[in-house]
Amino acid sequence: MKREENLNQLADSSKTWDIAVIGGGSSGLGVALDAISRGLSVILLEKADFAKGTSSRSTKLVHGGVRYLAQGDVGLVLEALKERGKLLQNAPHLTQNQPFIIPIYSWFDRAQYSVGLKIYDWMAGKLRLGKSRFISKSETIRRLPAVKQDGLKGGVVYHDGQFDDARLALAIAQTADDAGACLLNYVSVRGLLKDEDGKITGLKVRDELNQEKYTLKAKMVINATGVFADKILQMDNPDAAKMIQPSQGIHLVMDLEFLGGKDALMIPKTNDGRVLFAVPWHGKLVVGTTDTLREKAKLEPEALQKEIDFVLETAAGYMTKVPTRADVKAVFAGLRPLARPKEEGAKTKEISRSHKVIVSESNLVTLTGGKWTTFRKMGEDTVDHYQEITKELLAPSESFEMKLHGHTNQVPEGHWSVYGSDAEAIQKLAEEDASLREKIHPDFPNILAEVVWAAREEMAVKVEDVLSRRIRMLILDAQAALDSSLKVAEIMAQELGKDSKWIEQELSDFRKVAEKYLIKA
Ligand SMILES: Cc1cc2nc3c(=O)[nH]c(=O)nc-3n(C[C@H](O)[C@H](O)[C@H](O)COP(=O)(O)OP(=O)(O)OC[C@H]3O[C@@H](n4cnc5c(N)ncnc54)[C@H](O)[C@@H]3O)c2cc1C
Repeated sequence: MKREENLNQLADSSKTWDIAVIGGGSSGLGVALDAISRGLSVILLEKADFAKGTSSRSTKLVHGGVRYLAQGDVGLVLEALKERGKLLQNAPHLTQNQPFIIPIYSWFDRAQYSVGLKIYDWMAGKLRLGKSRFISKSETIRRLPAVKQDGLKGGVVYHDGQFDDARLALAIAQTADDAGACLLNYVSVRGLLKDEDGKITGLKVRDELNQEKYTLKAKMVINATGVFADKILQMDNPDAAKMIQPSQGIHLVMDLEFLGGKDALMIPKTNDGRVLFAVPWHGKLVVGTTDTLREKAKLEPEALQKEIDFVLETAAGYMTKVPTRADVKAVFAGLRPLARPKEEGAKTKEISRSHKVIVSESNLVTLTGGKWTTFRKMGEDTVDHYQEITKELLAPSESFEMKLHGHTNQVPEGHWSVYGSDAEAIQKLAEEDASLREKIHPDFPNILAEVVWAAREEMAVKVEDVLSRRIRMLILDAQAALDSSLKVAEIMAQELGKDSKWIEQELSDFRKVAEKYLIKA
């Protein structure tokens, strides 16, 4: 996936794209993937990096949503379970089957969760990931050595999927790019073009790296900008009422010893009625989350002190070794779009976790809500509107069966797994040049060849792209990422033909971002 080549396609003003997608998070990428599977020409513009927004800040679960089942949303759970099962087959290098344990402290909970999870298993049908079952107190302690044991009666084990969200976003982008789509990071949409009937005909865009402006023609334009959807809706109609109220969720990352095993912990109902997850991920433990209303949609939202306290206090209720601020290696925050109440002062209501596709008078198609797990189906449902908008025939969707870039039946070992079939080519770089075998940071397995690969093949153009989303060091250990930034900047500068001024600027940009992921003890 080469940015220069894709920029050349953008510059070809004689071309009319079938579909132009605004936003390179899971929603926009799902649209691009589905559109390319039907033989349509697609361009996707992302104003920052792929998955820079909410899509790199999730709990990293490919799940049916046990709690939506409790709320009776059977259709949503069925759809998500089907997508979950297929995604684990289509991207085995980026997903895995993760056992979760719900610790049981009352016999009523045992009955309630055992029955609920049997239904969850049954609903997954052939795509089930494993049988849920009750386990004894001793087995619970063996599998979760650091779980609080006072009053513990046992546990209920169930299975869901787990994934690397930013790497999956990249793999979807690469799959679409391999099949002929044109995807660009650091290109923002600045305006909509319309004909004399007020129908959308294209976009005004800008390359954020050199400020160059372009216009492009498209038959169908899709707004897949998550919490930023209102900005595009207002480009379409300056009087459009605000639709979205961002709500923040944070996660804390700490050492695995706070849980102790390979299994994840799930608390379906904390004291204040929320769900708490503690999930092993890339050798660390990810604990979250919260639900805090925020006024503004931001690309780099910051965790509030009270959210950090809340997660630490809640986790402490279930762990024998109580985590403190000093134990937190990184904190990251993401924003979910809630429906803004129509009247001032009224309560916000969550946009149903099932997604919505809204078509405006001018034919702007907005995709909103949903979740990472269902990105492909969300894309399919959006592209289904193509015929109604363009009056052209539309081929059936084939994205359900598409294997994602890097797919392999022999997933490489260790940290190489996320590259799938690309791992060999990266290892070859290191074989050919011994200096690239050096580790980026002593506490992490990643080597300099991965930085070269990210800049050469994965469209990484900033130090943050590498340290936050190509390898996930920033959210695994923010200080380690800061300590690695000079090495990464120097390798990238060599690869991209940049000078020392660029390195300086990158280090300063990265520091500003990384400081938000550090917790002061
Ligand atoms: C805390 C939290 C935990 C979650 N955990 C899970 C989970 O475990 N499993 C799961 O399935 N789901 C989970 N979700 C839901 C899931 O993460 C989201 O549904 C999904 O990431 C939303 O993706 P998106 O593409 O709609 O938005 P985003 O990822 O925010 O993407 C929108 C993109 O649009 C770009 N953009 C904005 N304006 C412009 C413009 N003018 N021009 C070009 N580009 C623009 C932005 O830069 C951004 O990258 C979680 C959500 C949150 C908040």
